[in-house]
Amino acid sequence: MSTDTVTEVAGAFIAGAEHANRGEPLGVTNPADGQVFAEVAAGTAEDVDAAVAAARDAFAGWSALAVRERGEIVARAAHHVERHLDELIPLLTREQGKTLRDSRIELTKALDTLMHYAGLSKALRGVHTPNLDPGIDGIVLRRPLGVVGAIVPWNFPTTLLCNKLAPALVAGNTVVAKPAGTTPLTTLRFAELLHEGGLPAGAFNVVTGSGSVTGTALVTHPGVRKIAFTGSTPVGEQIMALAANGTKRVTLELGGSDPMIICDDADLDAAASAASMGRFYNCGQACLAIKRVYVFDTVADQVIEQLVSKARRLKVGRGDAEGSQMGPMHTAAGREELAAQVERTLARGGELLAGGGPPEDPALGDGFFYMPTVVVDPPHDSPMATEEVFGPALPIWRVRDLDEAIERANSSQFGLGSSVWTRDLRRARQAAERIEAGYTWVNSRTKVYDELPFGGWKSSGYGKEHGEEAFDFYTETKSVVFGG
Ligand code: NAD
Repeated sequence: MSTDTVTEVAGAFIAGAEHANRGEPLGVTNPADGQVFAEVAAGTAEDVDAAVAAARDAFAGWSALAVRERGEIVARAAHHVERHLDELIPLLTREQGKTLRDSRIELTKALDTLMHYAGLSKALRGVHTPNLDPGIDGIVLRRPLGVVGAIVPWNFPTTLLCNKLAPALVAGNTVVAKPAGTTPLTTLRFAELLHEGGLPAGAFNVVTGSGSVTGTALVTHPGVRKIAFTGSTPVGEQIMALAANGTKRVTLELGGSDPMIICDDADLDAAASAASMGRFYNCGQACLAIKRVYVFDTVADQVIEQLVSKARRLKVGRGDAEGSQMGPMHTAAGREELAAQVERTLARGGELLAGGGPPEDPALGDGFFYMPTVVVDPPHDSPMATEEVFGPALPIWRVRDLDEAIERANSSQFGLGSSVWTRDLRRARQAAERIEAGYTWVNSRTKVYDELPFGGWKSSGYGKEHGEEAFDFYTETKSVVFGG
């Protein structure tokens, strides 16, 4: 492995300036060729302490601004970042692996979320309740929490960051973010650009590093009032336990295994397209992704044929190569885990109809590629049914009817997204009411809207992001009673 072009990076952005972390360097690898191209010093507990101190110092001034003014500052800063999109897009592709097109979609969406909450700044209101008793009024105040720790995974480093940053800042909090150890670079540059665009020093700080050292230091820091976490369910559960010390607030956006139900009266072409897009987008590495398809027996062959043909046609290639539709997986370990899940499943049963391993093209041999994979009718208790599958592999099951489909859909520990395809309004309503998940799309691809609250049921998490509801998770309310 050549190391002559490895860039050394200080690893943190604190109080409006680059900060040299004291920890050991962590390599940043290009998933398309396995080459380490940057080394980023990891944050120690001392570095996290410096970031939290900066965020605390900034809190008094930031929270005292008019809410509208905070919104305006966030919007101006977001516009400044937008002017640097052409620099950020290839950087995100290089460290994450996704195609340039997907990097553009991700970064544009991240900025959209900042703008959305900047706009909502004028709608952040409390409550007035007149005449609780004769001459007695009540009001409900909202106050920011203080310093928020934001812990973000590698699959969408900027959108998942902005889902937290935008409502947190507009509500008056200051933020210390820890990106995933493998995707620190875009986040560091994003923070620098937001500051250049007018966000005051200390309002948003970044410390990169591992989950076990840097992440734990942030979660256990006494100066942090809330942890907003996106990541896997086991780590989310650990964080929830750690946050008990100090009664910290938590929001947990965790794993998912979204079911999609395709009824016999559905628009089958549109459903197959949505399934392909919903499973293979971002190389299948999305929390909210179609991870189990249940299709009515009578139309199953048609849907399977379409999905298999779409999977085989997808152009797999380097994220920075012209025409690539699906890039590599993010890490070698992630690919091994996926391959093992598919193999353990097929050992139990089911039919492999597409993919099932890396591409044959030798030019892709050093990257972490895995072909779009379709497995039909594996056992309902096999790994692809019961575990989260975080890569481009889709299991499909034939089912009798809607009751069986809903029962199977709900048999998972997860409850993040879900979708149903039918032209029958009664079936759509039944599915929407009975599926245990935070989102149900009816005859629609699984797109997340800033306007609607998003969050998991069951082991998929706790609390909401997006929607006005997100503000509830970045503010405390206080009831005040006015006597005569
Ligand atoms: P992960 O839980 O391993 O890591 C997520 C983040 O937590 C990283 O920044 C990591 O460094 C940090 N971390 C790890 N251990 C920690 C600890 N002990 N204390 C503090 N921080 C720690 O998750 P991942 O594998 O990077 O991401 C994939 C997972 O994220 C999948 O399960 C996916 O479904 C989930 N996810 C959920 C959503 C959602 O909105 N529900 C969105 C995207 C991803």
